Amino acid sequence: MNDRVYNFSAGPSMLADEVLKKIAEELTNYRSTGMSVMEMSHRGKEYLAIFNECKERLRRVMAIPDDYEILFLHGGATAQFSAVPLNLMKNGKADYIITGNFAKKAAQEAAKFGQVNVVFDTSEENHRRIPDLSELRFSADADYVHLCSNNTIFGTEWQTFPDTGKVPLVADMSSDILSRRINVADFGLIYAGAQKNMGIAGMAVVIIRKDLISADDARMPVLYNYGLQAKNDSMYNTPPTYTIYVLDKVLEWIEELGGLEEMEKRNRLKAGLLYDYLDSQSYYLPHSEKSSRSMMNVTFTTPDKETDALFAAKAAERGLLSLKGHRLVGGIRASIYNAMPLQGVRELIAFMDEFAKGR
Ligand code: PMP
Repeated sequence: MNDRVYNFSAGPSMLADEVLKKIAEELTNYRSTGMSVMEMSHRGKEYLAIFNECKERLRRVMAIPDDYEILFLHGGATAQFSAVPLNLMKNGKADYIITGNFAKKAAQEAAKFGQVNVVFDTSEENHRRIPDLSELRFSADADYVHLCSNNTIFGTEWQTFPDTGKVPLVADMSSDILSRRINVADFGLIYAGAQKNMGIAGMAVVIIRKDLISADDARMPVLYNYGLQAKNDSMYNTPPTYTIYVLDKVLEWIEELGGLEEMEKRNRLKAGLLYDYLDSQSYYLPHSEKSSRSMMNVTFTTPDKETDALFAAKAAERGLLSLKGHRLVGGIRASIYNAMPLQGVRELIAFMDEFAKGR
């Protein structure tokens, strides 16, 4: 795997070499079954063993309590923007905190199904920060409170979460799930698209407290129906079989490294190096406020747009790929998810320094 690049893409993004090697070994003939996982019936015993192992591993790695259900659902995180209000807006009202583009999209989708109360919106500050917990005023009668734990585009991340009391807290963790330890019991529902820290595209993982799952509602679109999906163990129809298999391999890798404690340590180290460098100079300007910085997506700008483009192009020549920022922020975004090696971050910093000195 000598010709690998460091891919700083926001997602789909890097997989660990160890994960890719294991997948490659099993690609054409999975454990002497004479077939690939891609060819297996989702109801066959070989595949069910993978499926159940994946669920058990996720429960272990995230310390998910028994009163939570794990669902593997189609449609990525975006499908959950609709599924959450469809399933949880029992009294037609929810609180949303808008800290970025995806949080906004989730709120816009929910507004199709009920009343959305925007508790806080950082749009006017170009989503540079996460609100302080003391700034948040929740409605007393909301069905749930929704937030996005890590804002992939803007590079901000909730460091601590609000206590919403009896009102369930729902979090879109698409870009920081499995990057740090969290207390699952603080949330009513957690969802995440799989194509960043959970492997490859094709599904969302939903972790939901069982008492929030309604009995099967006949009018609900089947694929969005948590009750029906839970009753069928995510196999009402063919689940994204290979995506689940890759998640199992990613979880195995995390467990072998020492679980989320070790993952978090590595992520703090990697992000710390990059932010320390940014704070030590004045050529690059970090986008997010210090107190809200993301460990997963590090955003900054060079002095002007042309230089941003030149930076990304020159970096690519060095095998440092996909550093161009999202069109909403511009500048540079380095996504350094779990699978980005420390060496990738070191090489990026070395390149940044060289580039700045050459200007
Ligand atoms: N939420 C967040 C935080 C994301 O980063 C993304 C995708 N980058 C989405 C939602 C949308 O996910 P998907 O493409 O899986 O629908």
